[in-house]
Amino acid sequence: MALAFDEFGRPFIILREQEQKSRLRGLDAQKANIAAGKAVAKILRTSLGPKGMDKMLQSPDGEVTVTNDGATILEQMDVDNQIAKLMVELSQSQDYEIGDGTTGVVVLAGSLLEQAERLLERGIHPIRVAEGYEMASRIAFDHLQHISKKFEFGLENIEPLVQTCMTTLSSKIVNRCKRSLAEIAVRAVLAVADLERKDVNLDLIKVEGKVGGKLEDTELVYGILIDKDMSHPQMPKRIENAKIAILTCPFEPPKPKTKHKVDIDTVEKFQTLRVQEQEYFDQMVQKCKDAGATLVICQWGFDDEANHLLMHRNLPAVRWVGGVELELIAIATGGRIVPRFQELTPDKLGKAGLVREKSFGTTKDRMLYIEHCANSRAVTIFIRGGNKMMIEETKRSIHDALCVARNLIRNNSIVYGGGSAEISCSVAVEAAADKHPGVEQYAIRAFADALDAVPMALAENSGLQPIETLNAVKSQQIKEKNPHCGIDCNDVGTTDMREQNVFETLIGKQQQILLATQVVKMILKIDDVISPSEY
Ligand code: ADP
Repeated sequence: MALAFDEFGRPFIILREQEQKSRLRGLDAQKANIAAGKAVAKILRTSLGPKGMDKMLQSPDGEVTVTNDGATILEQMDVDNQIAKLMVELSQSQDYEIGDGTTGVVVLAGSLLEQAERLLERGIHPIRVAEGYEMASRIAFDHLQHISKKFEFGLENIEPLVQTCMTTLSSKIVNRCKRSLAEIAVRAVLAVADLERKDVNLDLIKVEGKVGGKLEDTELVYGILIDKDMSHPQMPKRIENAKIAILTCPFEPPKPKTKHKVDIDTVEKFQTLRVQEQEYFDQMVQKCKDAGATLVICQWGFDDEANHLLMHRNLPAVRWVGGVELELIAIATGGRIVPRFQELTPDKLGKAGLVREKSFGTTKDRMLYIEHCANSRAVTIFIRGGNKMMIEETKRSIHDALCVARNLIRNNSIVYGGGSAEISCSVAVEAAADKHPGVEQYAIRAFADALDAVPMALAENSGLQPIETLNAVKSQQIKEKNPHCGIDCNDVGTTDMREQNVFETLIGKQQQILLATQVVKMILKIDDVISPSEY
């Protein structure tokens, strides 16, 4: 605090800003940051791998989520610390870029931080550690490319793709149905993929869920699914080669826009009004029929009178369809959204090979399937499950599987999973460390040790002795010169991940190493933490 005087000689007090803030400098700052980062990684560590544990999280408004997906766990956690937030973002960027490997990337970053802490304690400057990590990450990156394999598949041979998706799903809660879900994911991706341009537009895959049934009932619909039913129970439940009128105008007599009064004082007048109303309905239905529509999808409702008439004139209709869905139907069926009956013409109708209504179980739940649409390859994955939590988790798992299939179509290189790629990289990085004369070699060795964290976590989560198992597998890799040996999490009896069919995409694994290194380098370079004090 200091006393000063302004230009008019009035005294005022200067409070130095720092006094109101808590501040950590130098090694203390780095240690505090590393501790925060490690704490986040520790939470995720037990969720890694096929035998990983699930987490139950409750949101402030009481909604419960049970999940095994790293990005989701971190997203739902209420993280206050800035460094911890960086770890959360790390997992999210892996999710955005690749879609899978969100737990692995955080575990790796946590282990890199742990190793860095030891080096800092031994007096190595953080910049040297960061530089050593950078070199090591490049070695690992190139080594992954070296041990990767091309993965051949075609439209007739989708089995390899299914196998890779199964690896992703095997570590999720839904692994009971991994085969069928993987097949669904692969078929969905192939349906919307442009194999020539090696591009997949995941927006064309809609994932819908409805509570009820079993996970095994999950299905792939080649078209659009809407949570609606025909407006009258006697309307046909199945329409082939449907021509669909997509309307945003209601089936009701036009309402005057300004205030008018209708005086009805005799029965005759009432009758005339009624007849006139009926005529209106009749004309509307006629207009749809004239255009050639065999199905009407309407954004608004219509009253019983109109409903009855539609049924009577054999024009099935669906009411109260939301705007977003209406748009989707219009795009998929190649139709136009029509705001007035007068504007309805045959060329504005959408076309679909089959529209059918399906009911579920004993409930009155019905869904409308619009399949084989004219214009689009859009597909829907319809998930069934015992409760909402299960459906939400399945959605997340399917998302991961879709991303893996998409990544393979973009770039068909793979590396083997189960920690085998990490162990192989660790051996390569360790060997490269000897060639570096500077202080960085300590950091490079530390990087090699950090890579071992992933197989160790896999072993530990599967109830195996982590260090013993890792050593056994590592020496096997070196002895047999086989980079495919990994942790036998499921006790299959072989450590060769080729035989176990455990793959991961090359770009996913490479991205994990790059992202984790970047974040750790960033954390290490912070040597001053200024934050507002508690009071
Ligand atoms: P992430 O969110 O990072 O994908 P997961 O919990 O899905 O994390 O675990 C993925 C890890 O589990 C990968 O390292 C993968 O190689 C490994 N893994 C998956 N299935 C198996 C298996 N059957 N045997 C051994 N390892 C497996």
